[in-house]
Amino acid sequence: MTAKSYDPETTLATYEPGGVFGDIYDYFVQYNRTVVGARLAGVGTGLALGGGMSYLSPQYGMACDSFRELEIVLPDGQIVTASNESNPDLFFVSRGGGGNAYGVVTKYTVQSRPAGQFYAGNVIYAFDQTDAVIDAIENFIQYNTDPKAAIIGTYEKLPTPDLELNLDEAILMFLVYDGPDAGTAFSNFTNIPHLINTMGIKTYPEVVNMPIPFSTELSAGDNIFRVGVHRPEGGSYKNALNEWRNWAEDNKGKYILLSLDFQPVPKSLTDASKAQGGNAMQMPDGPWFWLNYLISTPPLMSDADYEAVQTSYRDMVAASSNAEGLPLFINDANHDQNPLQTFSTFAKLQEIKRKYDPDNFFADKTGGWSFA
Ligand SMILES: Cc1cc2nc3c(=O)[nH]c(=O)nc-3n(C[C@H](O)[C@H](O)[C@H](O)COP(=O)(O)OP(=O)(O)OC[C@H]3O[C@@H](n4cnc5c(N)ncnc54)[C@H](O)[C@@H]3O)c2cc1C
Repeated sequence: MTAKSYDPETTLATYEPGGVFGDIYDYFVQYNRTVVGARLAGVGTGLALGGGMSYLSPQYGMACDSFRELEIVLPDGQIVTASNESNPDLFFVSRGGGGNAYGVVTKYTVQSRPAGQFYAGNVIYAFDQTDAVIDAIENFIQYNTDPKAAIIGTYEKLPTPDLELNLDEAILMFLVYDGPDAGTAFSNFTNIPHLINTMGIKTYPEVVNMPIPFSTELSAGDNIFRVGVHRPEGGSYKNALNEWRNWAEDNKGKYILLSLDFQPVPKSLTDASKAQGGNAMQMPDGPWFWLNYLISTPPLMSDADYEAVQTSYRDMVAASSNAEGLPLFINDANHDQNPLQTFSTFAKLQEIKRKYDPDNFFADKTGGWSFA
């Protein structure tokens, strides 16, 4: 199911759930438009049901905030429309409540967005810039007011021995500006001494293939995610970063890649979400941010070793307390983190779930997040 359409009069776009966002972006670029979706081309459309963080989110909210109408097959086989007018409760839970809880979405109608030239790229730093980069990230999260500027800051730890040379860690910034001239939006990052800077004018399909074309395939291995949520004051995330780095040192050989990603949720994002009706997370005002912890383990690990390393990584993440009153991000969460329970709307979502899936068909027959 990969049909797509664009209506130039309403500027609404439609896409079906098959395929990946890269194909969807490639299609809409002929109209100089795009949809709010994944930051990497190879991710599937289930992303939008879990909220969906995009480089365009600081301007337009999460991917799900741009939904205008969904075609959904309910557990009893009925095909229904969910929108603000038709089954609004089902529409509400579908905007960020995760897939598989109440029906299968067979068509998305969304508000499309302009896509012209982007000034974007990666800046890569060596280990010794760790503190300077974290300060620049904190500064950006707290003070950037230009919603056209989006970042992800990723700390990468490799399994190679440290050898006191500090060659086992790199910091990879993704910097994306919607427009050909970013002004000074990223100066705090580009002014720090770096190894590589690939910033330049790009199309949207080029942006979602950073750092290199086909990078999604490279990152499609055994990636296990966990998520934390923090506010940019108080320095709690500096402790989280330190704990993560200590764990990485103590567990050399037990992973092939570790990554810790800073994903800002600026006030402009939460304002844009509210202006479109809000989503199932009912996101409190930014700025705050999600921390995504990724671990990729070696292919030939025994089951016992795999369990042990995942348990130890889980405990390290759990030891860094999260900010009160903020939701964990479904798309980056591990199943044992129960992200839905961190939503202020959880009781309402459970009620809607009971209405549309009274026999618990999806919980019994499929995976996905549990409302139980
Ligand atoms: C390399 C990589 C990059 C990523 N980048 C981002 C990013 O930029 N932004 C972000 O928000 N997240 C990102 N993620 C996280 C991503 O959102 C989740 O992994 C998400 O689950 C991917 O959706 P999918 O459709 O590819 O996966 P799936 O596992 O197929 O789907 C996810 C869930 O939704 C359900 N589902 C899927 N489609 C439907 C449907 N049509 N109707 C009902 N239920 C459905 C599935 O059953 C499943 O429970 C990334 C993940 C990876 C691995």
